[in-house]
Amino acid sequence: MTDRGESDDDTLRTGDGVDAGESSTAAETEAGESTTGTETDAEDETREGLESDGGVSEPAPSSPGVAPESVDGLLEGVESAGIEGYNYAYLDEHTKREVRRATLKAIAIPGHQVPFASREMPLARGWGTGGIQVSLSLLGPDDTFKVIDQGSDESVNAANIRRLAETTANVDPTRDTTAASIIQTRHRIPEEVLTDEQILVLQVPTTDPLRKVDGSDDRNRRRHAHQNYSKMWVSLYENVVEWDEIQIGAAYPVLVNGRYLMSPSPIPRWDTPKLHQAETLFLFAAGREARIYAVPPHTDVEPLAFEDKRFQRERFPEACALCGSTDTYRTEVETDDGKRLYACNDTSFCEKRQRDPSIQKAHHVDRDVGWERLEEPAVDAANDGGEGR
Ligand SMILES: [Zn+2]
Repeated sequence: MTDRGESDDDTLRTGDGVDAGESSTAAETEAGESTTGTETDAEDETREGLESDGGVSEPAPSSPGVAPESVDGLLEGVESAGIEGYNYAYLDEHTKREVRRATLKAIAIPGHQVPFASREMPLARGWGTGGIQVSLSLLGPDDTFKVIDQGSDESVNAANIRRLAETTANVDPTRDTTAASIIQTRHRIPEEVLTDEQILVLQVPTTDPLRKVDGSDDRNRRRHAHQNYSKMWVSLYENVVEWDEIQIGAAYPVLVNGRYLMSPSPIPRWDTPKLHQAETLFLFAAGREARIYAVPPHTDVEPLAFEDKRFQRERFPEACALCGSTDTYRTEVETDDGKRLYACNDTSFCEKRQRDPSIQKAHHVDRDVGWERLEEPAVDAANDGGEGR
């Protein structure tokens, strides 16, 4: 929908930022299904146009003199061609602008899912394509980029995403949370306190928290429009009746800015309070579902809970076996000789703690962070009922 407008006539759309945003939101909610069709058509046409133009998605010209019938020769050509011929940060400029526009709209309406024309990326959807598109549309040559997957910088997926950005956007890679200007992540928010100079991009597999209680996106969009979340509340109540507490492991539903129900992506409950009144901009992107949403800095993010059944974080029976931390999110790991132990999930911070056990999560900022204080060991031990807000 918006995509079409952009590529056809840019001057028409320059001055109409906020108004256009609002009206198209209403239009989506009312006529979701029908617009989806036209959007896809428009996207295809745009893409074809771009390809025939020559520049962007065309692979690098293979080196002259390589015989195409030889497999070795072809591979050699690929090796030597590198990323020559691709646009800066892999995506073409139209795409980056379109992603940025959806991102700005998402920031303007915290928690609201904004559609965008999700592009094909050099990996399968469901492997972080949304996050990559947002990251690549934000990155500039001066940025420092960190990618984590389940708390680890070293997983194959994280390493490959980081390498893509490194080679196409010429950014400096880092594993140090405090040194990164943009962090792309799957399933975790780093333990160290993020600042207002950082952006966290979260990969999202399932955008709508209501889909757990109703499979119809059509009806769920109407529920979001009317702020009608009763079905979710009933589901939580049933959960309490059955289990005596709210049994949601990850992607705990939150109310953003007192308005939109939002899935914080499958982060553990442990990370959920980090979204509340943070200094950092959080961007959520789903490539497969073609949606972007955001939590801007200083926004209220409230986990759904009842007065007598409060939101709780995970509790762990043991300290980290590697660094001794008791105030980090830990996972059970099995060593080579079959022993099971608990270790920090955030490997980068765990390494820092191994070097200096006294280092605090807010060591680099002079700011009081509520969620950090709550996890200090003394409080942790005394408070086995969890904190809740
Ligand atoms: Zn540790």
